[in-house]
Amino acid sequence: MSLIRLAYASEATFEAQPVDKGVEPHVARILLTSRNNNAKAHLVGGLYYGDNRFFQYLEGEEDEVHKTFGRIKRDDRHRNIITLIEEPIEARTFSNWSMKYVPLSSDVRQFLQRHGLDTFNPQAFSADQCEEMIGLIRDSRHDQKLANYDETVTRNTQKTRGTTSGFSPALRFGLIAAAVCLVGALIYAGSLL
Ligand code: FAD
Repeated sequence: MSLIRLAYASEATFEAQPVDKGVEPHVARILLTSRNNNAKAHLVGGLYYGDNRFFQYLEGEEDEVHKTFGRIKRDDRHRNIITLIEEPIEARTFSNWSMKYVPLSSDVRQFLQRHGLDTFNPQAFSADQCEEMIGLIRDSRHDQKLANYDETVTRNTQKTRGTTSGFSPALRFGLIAAAVCLVGALIYAGSLL
């Protein structure tokens, strides 16, 4: 069993929807799936999304990284996927993150400025710039924001499927009303006997 790390860059094929705060909806869905799958496969890493481009970094068992990257490469939500790093590692360097997400933040803006880059275009990153990006993801302080985001998605999913108890408020009200009518009918029937 050997550990590897892998970084790639790609271009999103979807048109980013404007968001006041939080995560772009397409990216949000990708993150939700990634977190579920990566946790099961013991993969850790991070995802950057900005200027309609992705930079993703993964660490884990070689087989699992390859299996996941195989699925990622077949995904039509992005194209022009370029592998930037793929090599063995001694140990994982991200802890407790099945997929850390960092939006195009001030850290990255500063990084781009330092390197004289106008836009976030990881496909053109040098090896040193890749390492710097990985460090930015690792050190990012956006953890809390993302935890909130996950709760929002979960809440929204529950809203569309019902509530935490499995019933929407209208259905719950209907069921209670039906139960009250039934009890009333039984009492009335009982009084007739
Ligand atoms: P499925 O059951 O196939 O799908 C899960 C959800 O994703 C469903 O809600 C489905 O509607 C939605 N979905 C799948 N494909 C599409 C599509 N083409 N367009 C719109 N919605 C779609 N997966 C990982 O497991 N780990 C990762 O780290 C990871 N990183 C990704 C990074 C990027 C930039 C992108 C674009 C995708 C990434 N994915 C990742 C997703 C991956 O490409 C596969 O979609 C996913 O792994 C399929 O997993 P599944 O079979 O469990 O889910």
